[in-house]
Amino acid sequence: MSRITWPNGARCAAAITFDMDADSLIHIAAEDGWRRAYPVSMGRYGPTVAIPRIVETYRRLGLKQSFFIPGWCLETYRQAVETILEGGHEIGCHGWIHENPLNRSREQQAGDLDRSLDAFDRIVGHRPSGYRAPVYQVTEHTVDLLLEREFIYESSMMADDVPYLIRAPNGNSGGDLVEIPPHWGNDDWPPFAHYEEIGYMMPVRGPSEGLAPFFEEFEAAYEAGGFWMAVVHPFLTGRLARWRVMERWLEGVLERGDVWFATLDEIARHVLAERDRGADIRIEQFPYYTERQQ
Ligand SMILES: [Zn+2]
Repeated sequence: MSRITWPNGARCAAAITFDMDADSLIHIAAEDGWRRAYPVSMGRYGPTVAIPRIVETYRRLGLKQSFFIPGWCLETYRQAVETILEGGHEIGCHGWIHENPLNRSREQQAGDLDRSLDAFDRIVGHRPSGYRAPVYQVTEHTVDLLLEREFIYESSMMADDVPYLIRAPNGNSGGDLVEIPPHWGNDDWPPFAHYEEIGYMMPVRGPSEGLAPFFEEFEAAYEAGGFWMAVVHPFLTGRLARWRVMERWLEGVLERGDVWFATLDEIARHVLAERDRGADIRIEQFPYYTERQQ
């Protein structure tokens, strides 16, 4: 059996995914978050200033990419949602208000998802095909809940370099979920987040220095003929100097002509088509554990 091959003979698949958390983070982190105007303003930079900048770059370069947005942010930042949709980009589900699924029961997790899907119906006009868990916290219930709601992919778990399949006990009738794996080496929290209220006080890196590891990760994926994905945030990587670095890198990479930049929805559907033609795609059984290991 052959491994995944990419469309049109592309050597590598790639995606920049923005999680537009905005100020949801501070409302979850502190009961008085609504009073804390500085972190609220830091989050608001994303939908109001960074999103138009990012979407304009993608328009100029002819790219369609994916954004993950909590339902509460869809409600609160409708202009940003409209800008993203006008650009032809994908919006995936990212919880209701960035609640940590680990702190929620199965029923509560189902309720958060359904509340978010209701916001998609009203504001986006269609349901999302993909999900990224707030703070990457997939629980033992998440995969079942997503399959029940006909999601086709998930993007929070880290068990491979390239997309793979997750099979859950209740998922056999509905098929497998495609996992599109992130990892911390391609995430902008470690180099750029400085956010005392949520316990994240990293020494902020310069724009080129902070993004250099992403590009090194890309070169390895390109050489291997694999997959590269950045997980970034409008209020961090969408800031002026950092986005300038990312934008120039994108211009250079696109000149190679053999990198397939796509939305995660396109990548997930391609992986399912590759599975159907018999490509060798690894399957992870889920959940990993059903009780405490000791
Ligand atoms: Zn997030």
